[in-house]
Amino acid sequence: SVAAVANIGVVGLAVMGSNLARNLASREGNRVAVYNRTFARTALLLEEHPEAKFVGSESIDDFVASLTTPRTALIMVQAGAGTDAVINELAARFEPGDIIVDGGNALFTDTIRREKALSANGIHFVGAGISGGEEGALKGPSIMPGGSVESYKTLGPILASIAAIAEGEPCVTHVGTDGAGHFVKMIHNGIEYADMQLIAEAYDILRQAGRFSPAEIADIFTQWNTGELESYLIEITAEILKQVDAKTGKPLVDVILDEAGSKGTGVWTVQTALDLGVPVSGIAEAVFARSLSSQTAQRAGSHTLPADATLWNITDKEAFVEDVRRALYASKIVAYAQGFDAIRAGAKQYNWTIDLGAVSKIWRGGCIIRAQFLNRIADAYATDANLLSLLHDTYFTEAVSRSLASWRTVVAHSALAGIPVPAFGSSLSYYDGLRAPRLPAAVVQGQRDFFGAHTYKRSDMPGIFHTLWSGDR
Ligand code: NAP
Repeated sequence: SVAAVANIGVVGLAVMGSNLARNLASREGNRVAVYNRTFARTALLLEEHPEAKFVGSESIDDFVASLTTPRTALIMVQAGAGTDAVINELAARFEPGDIIVDGGNALFTDTIRREKALSANGIHFVGAGISGGEEGALKGPSIMPGGSVESYKTLGPILASIAAIAEGEPCVTHVGTDGAGHFVKMIHNGIEYADMQLIAEAYDILRQAGRFSPAEIADIFTQWNTGELESYLIEITAEILKQVDAKTGKPLVDVILDEAGSKGTGVWTVQTALDLGVPVSGIAEAVFARSLSSQTAQRAGSHTLPADATLWNITDKEAFVEDVRRALYASKIVAYAQGFDAIRAGAKQYNWTIDLGAVSKIWRGGCIIRAQFLNRIADAYATDANLLSLLHDTYFTEAVSRSLASWRTVVAHSALAGIPVPAFGSSLSYYDGLRAPRLPAAVVQGQRDFFGAHTYKRSDMPGIFHTLWSGDR
């Protein structure tokens, strides 16, 4: 019979699962059981990493038997049907108090459903968002677990042992109950989409209007990476722009086909935000920009669609670069403000208590959007935990205020020059929308009342009103 010796097990030994298993095994106090549907993968891992002292099982029964109680298993398999299949196999063998963690990219509503079903049998189900890709999984990811508070007592120290460390703190926190972790991971990915698109637009403006070469833009980004824009994404973009294609000798960025793909979490973020009524316009534009880039048939019209563009006459290149930098920073603030607004709204809708400052802190290391900047967000929520918008925080208000003239210049000139800047432009419009004392929504309400008798409210007295419009049908 199999001895129960492992405090944690990993199911699913593709790239993410095996790296997480190795990470777990490298931390003191952990003994790691491993299992994969196809045993060949397990055998390979055991063979390649004897130092990990894995407890490998060929059958799910032996895997479960090799776990100490409360049994804790981390699932890293294909999202969807694969995840459901593995959950069912474990749940059939687990006892009340045991813990199943889904570390895959599940949709948070699936996590809520699964948690409900398993908790009815006394099994803790924890949806945990894990960010950082393959390398993060091995060296330290950012981890966003949901699930019960009780399960976190067992799970917390295990996850803390493998998470990235940022400023001395592990990048993991109990985000909230049931699907909160996967929800926050989804929003993380949405923000990632916006951040990437904004950097790409900054590149495009520098390239098209500023006539800088990719190598020169790489140097500009490297410079930016020493200031308030310091981030993993700026850093890797500089690396990408420096890369020369071995085959042609051209900058690699000029050889890569300009059609951006996506795997779905950006779309989920926008769909969810639409349902919640939260305007995540920067994230949405980033998702749409990828869609537009891939609409090759429609884009085939590029030769026939007139531009009537005005050349952007840049006299002071240094000032121009600084304008683009400030426009990027202000737009980035908006993207994060929108993302955190979506988390706040999601928490309200799904009854989660989410510490937004703690979320910003666990994103400082291990994940794709890691940046110094997240400290400013943590500071903002430390000052006011109930902050309605990051843009209301003094630091961010001042940062945007310093950037405003540049932001408007860059968006306006890009429009005149015919350079598409959907994320820069929509972020500025969002800001102006929040700032405007009066919005044309009054006109929309009038229209709705005119054609549909949808009624309206007045700004000078309470109540609900309907006008007998002269053209009423
Ligand atoms: P993957 O390619 O998404 O999935 C392959 C694994 O799933 C294999 O271990 C496979 O087992 C198993 N599997 C599939 N269907 C199964 C079923 N019906 N029953 C049992 N096992 C099944 O692997 P991955 O790239 O390592 O990603 C794992 C999860 O992490 C995914 O949810 C992914 O979205 C998420 N994630 C990935 C990244 C990343 O950078 N790749 C980052 C964060 C999160 P067999 O060997 O038997 O086929």
